[in-house]
Amino acid sequence: MVKILVIGAAGRMGRTIVSCIEDTPGAEISGGTENSGNHCIGSDIGELAGIGKKNIAVGDSLEEAVKACDVVIDFTTPECSMETLRVTVNQIKPVVIGTTGFSAPQKRQIRQWGKRNRCVMAPNMSIGVNVLFKVVRDMARVLGDAYDVEIVEAHHKFKKDAPSGTAVRISEIVAEALNRNIDEVGVYGRKGITERMPREIGIHTLRAGDIVGEHRVLFGGMGENLEIFHRAQSRETFARGAIRAAKWLVNQPVGLYDMQDVLGFSNK
Ligand code: NAP
Repeated sequence: MVKILVIGAAGRMGRTIVSCIEDTPGAEISGGTENSGNHCIGSDIGELAGIGKKNIAVGDSLEEAVKACDVVIDFTTPECSMETLRVTVNQIKPVVIGTTGFSAPQKRQIRQWGKRNRCVMAPNMSIGVNVLFKVVRDMARVLGDAYDVEIVEAHHKFKKDAPSGTAVRISEIVAEALNRNIDEVGVYGRKGITERMPREIGIHTLRAGDIVGEHRVLFGGMGENLEIFHRAQSRETFARGAIRAAKWLVNQPVGLYDMQDVLGFSNK
């Protein structure tokens, strides 16, 4: 049995992860933590997740909770995840990070920590989106500069970061495949008189209602358009991907991995 600690256990993703661990063979919940001051501290983790009493109270002591688990899953905020990463590096405990919205310096620090501990970090843990990542790379390579690339993402109105980490990753994949630097060619929304430059990669954000997550990549050519579209219908897809990553990670050597590695798509 792999004992999993869930950071942000009262959050939207945290609750879904707890409920999915319950019916995952070979996995069990070792505990959950929340932001100190969160009103769910002390509540039963199972009752919060809607799976009935587990007799495990949500706590706020990260160091102690990490000691008691085999692997950590964290879907919270960049600040919280940086602290989780620091503690797991010190305790040499594998960690799966689903949080998005890290700054460039935070990403650099995470790469450093990845030399000392086992970590899976991915902006989108759904299997479908990871297939999309792979297919989009091939589409960009084959279609080349003759096709204009526009990425549109939509999420629920409570999402804190924009564009989504998934849209950012798609833009990086397309830019790499086309030998472009995303920092130079990424265009985030448009307004006014804006002539499209040939090598631009457009990235657009929608926020509305309870949309779980949608990503559309359009390759616009002269005389034809090719689109690939992914819609997540429930958070379960991300939760099950994260649990699969956690179970995979406990048997890996030290390194920083993503879902492409977990699914065997990577050439590493
Ligand atoms: P959410 O509902 O706001 O949940 C985040 C939870 O983390 C909240 O309960 C928050 O508590 C808690 N938290 C904050 N600081 C903490 C700390 N220091 N210690 C412990 N818990 C802490 O957000 P969500 O919708 O679940 O999304 C969380 C993250 O996952 C976002 O970055 C989102 O973009 C990302 N995400 C990734 C994927 C993927 O596949 N990789 C999929 C979906 C979402 P408070 O409310 O008290 O601050």
